[in-house]
Amino acid sequence: MKILVSGAGVAGLACARELGTRGHDVTVVEYARHLRLTGTPIDIRGDAIEAADRMGLLAQIRERRVRMSELTQFVDGAGEPVARIPMAEVSDSDDDIELLREDLLRILADALPDTAAIRFGDSIEALTDSGDEGTKNGGGGGEGGGGGEGAGDGRGGVGVRFASGRTGRYDLVIGADGQHSAVRRLVFGPEEDYLRHLGVYFALADHPGPTRSESTNAIYNVPRRMAGVFRYGDRTVAVFQFRSEALDYDHRDLAAQKRILVDAFAGHRSWRIPELLDAALADPGFFFTSASQIHLPCWHRGRVVLVGDAGYSPAFLSGRGTSLALTGARFLAEELERCGDDHTAAFPRYETRQRPYVAFAQDRVHSGRDRMLPTTWAAIAARNEALRASGAGAL
Ligand SMILES: Cc1cc2nc3c(=O)[nH]c(=O)nc-3n(C[C@H](O)[C@H](O)[C@H](O)COP(=O)(O)OP(=O)(O)OC[C@H]3O[C@@H](n4cnc5c(N)ncnc54)[C@H](O)[C@@H]3O)c2cc1C
Repeated sequence: MKILVSGAGVAGLACARELGTRGHDVTVVEYARHLRLTGTPIDIRGDAIEAADRMGLLAQIRERRVRMSELTQFVDGAGEPVARIPMAEVSDSDDDIELLREDLLRILADALPDTAAIRFGDSIEALTDSGDEGTKNGGGGGEGGGGGEGAGDGRGGVGVRFASGRTGRYDLVIGADGQHSAVRRLVFGPEEDYLRHLGVYFALADHPGPTRSESTNAIYNVPRRMAGVFRYGDRTVAVFQFRSEALDYDHRDLAAQKRILVDAFAGHRSWRIPELLDAALADPGFFFTSASQIHLPCWHRGRVVLVGDAGYSPAFLSGRGTSLALTGARFLAEELERCGDDHTAAFPRYETRQRPYVAFAQDRVHSGRDRMLPTTWAAIAARNEALRASGAGAL
């Protein structure tokens, strides 16, 4: 089949690998001009480890494993450690592999077979699913240049028009384009119908330092906010979280997102906050997102299906978005194979297998938020005291 994947994140690349190695002709379209490699380490947990293993990538993933969290401390305004992240929450077990998001993306991209290609700097602008007519067994057509076949011309499959002006026709379209998925908006309707904001924003920027030698990762709280400095290998990153009601902003406007961050920390100049904000302002790879979940009653419609954050973001607070992307890609590819490429049978089976993982992940976010973002100075002190008293977070 000819398959179009929107988004070259973990979900999109894993789908391309899984479907390409099964002989499908896969195009991944990514709106950025290159892989977006920003990110703190992500976790591959539970059955996602088996998914990676079945892809033949587990050995490489294990080689790139990082074990940094044991060095993470909460600090006070003078930079003095006040408590430690409990070891029980540190991902360092056989059931949990932590690695840089960047490394996972490179491993997946390097593992794409010849049948899968990424096209950067383009995105889907319009989709028309013309049903089943004429598309069984690979009847989806090729691509056209600016004047190629248009969407909705009465032939079967999914007609697609891209932002570049290209057009194309595919047997299946996979929306793996993240929390603010364009495929979801085009096929299932506006984001606000599916997005549940959990009251927290997250920002991440490369720190050009290190400006001083950092042997530990440090997190500093002011009420409702945290700023942190993390070291991964030879990289230093500035991390921010803050509580806020849902904000209205353009998800592709970096300058606007940086302004939101600076405003959120207005009046807070203690510890290294000004220095870290400067790093954020200077970073062209700055990443800003909300802790939001996506809840859809169904992840497929016609020949279009959602995988990863696009369909069921658990929010970054769960630490399970990457695992869901990997199991989702695996279940989708396996079910298409099992059903002889009949998507009408395979899509519901994919959903049935993946739903329990999503429900589990989406249920597990709230305690993390309270720990990381106490709302008052007294609550910050109480959190630190409780950590020290428990022994788990003792210094
Ligand atoms: C730059 C970046 C940094 C991240 N950092 C962290 C982190 O530090 N911690 C954490 O827990 N999670 C982070 N995440 C989220 C995490 O990667 C996902 O929750 C998880 O891996 C599931 O991935 P996904 O592929 O479903 O979505 P994503 O990782 O969001 O990938 C979606 C991809 O689709 C692309 N895309 C978006 N819209 C379109 C469009 N209209 N057309 C074409 N392509 C499009 C995006 O550029 C991106 O490459 C980050 C995501 C991104 C994109």
